[in-house]
Amino acid sequence: MHQGQCLCGSVQFKLHQKITDIVMCHCSECRKAQGTAFATSGSVKNENFEFISGENNLTEFKGKKFCKTCGSPIMGKLKNNPDHTRIRLGTITNDIKEPIEKHIFTDSKANWDSICDSIAQHKEW
Ligand SMILES: [Zn+2]
Ligand SMILES: [Zn+2]
Repeated sequence: MHQGQCLCGSVQFKLHQKITDIVMCHCSECRKAQGTAFATSGSVKNENFEFISGENNLTEFKGKKFCKTCGSPIMGKLKNNPDHTRIRLGTITNDIKEPIEKHIFTDSKANWDSICDSIAQHKEW
C-alpha cells in the first residue's frame, strides 16, 4: 500500500495499510530530530510494517531508529502505544492520500515557523 526508503536507499520498507493518526508536531524534540520546523508522522500497526532491506543498517536513539549511513529517521514508537509504529511521512515514496489530522505542540513551535493552513491546531497533544 505504501513504500518508503531512507535518503541513501539502504533502508527500504513497505506498509500494508493506510497510514492513520497523521500529525505535524512542532515540539522541540521533533525540530532537533528533523533539523527543521516540524515533523509529519503517522501510524501503522507493527505487523503492517515490513522491511525490504536495511534492517541491520539502523541505529537507535530514544526509541527512534535511523539509517546508520544517511541519518534518515525510519521508525519510532510512542510509549503509550507500543502496538503501532510511527513513520515519518517524508520517507514515503508514493503519494499519500490520507488526511493530516492536526498540528500538535504549537505552543512550543519555533518563532520562525508560520502555520499557513486551516488544519486544526493543538497547543500540546
Ligand atoms: Zn540511508
Ligand atoms: Zn514532536
